Amino acid sequence: AEDMEYRLRTGEVVDQSTYPMVPHMRREAARLQTFSSWPPTAPVRGQDLAQAGLYYLGVQDQVQCFCCGGRLGGWETGDTAWGEHTKHFPHCFFILGHDVGNITFQAST
Ligand SMILES: [Zn+2]
Repeated sequence: AEDMEYRLRTGEVVDQSTYPMVPHMRREAARLQTFSSWPPTAPVRGQDLAQAGLYYLGVQDQVQCFCCGGRLGGWETGDTAWGEHTKHFPHCFFILGHDVGNITFQAST
């Protein structure tokens, strides 16, 4: 937790002009919609993936982050959306807690 707080404070100076990579998926509600065809057998819920900045690409179980553009797939039991996103794309500005224009359900109501 300490490390994350440190990054949040120092993150202000980073150039964020190229983010998010996929601006039209900034809205959590839009991301959640892509999971309407998400395989029901997948061990991770679409709701959790959308919350972690990910949206469904419509192929197998492949998702992409609206911010860093990183792709994830091959979800296994025990995986979490935030956990895998953090593990594979630790420098993602959304993961680091920067303001990248994410619109949560709360913000949009
Ligand atoms: Zn990301």
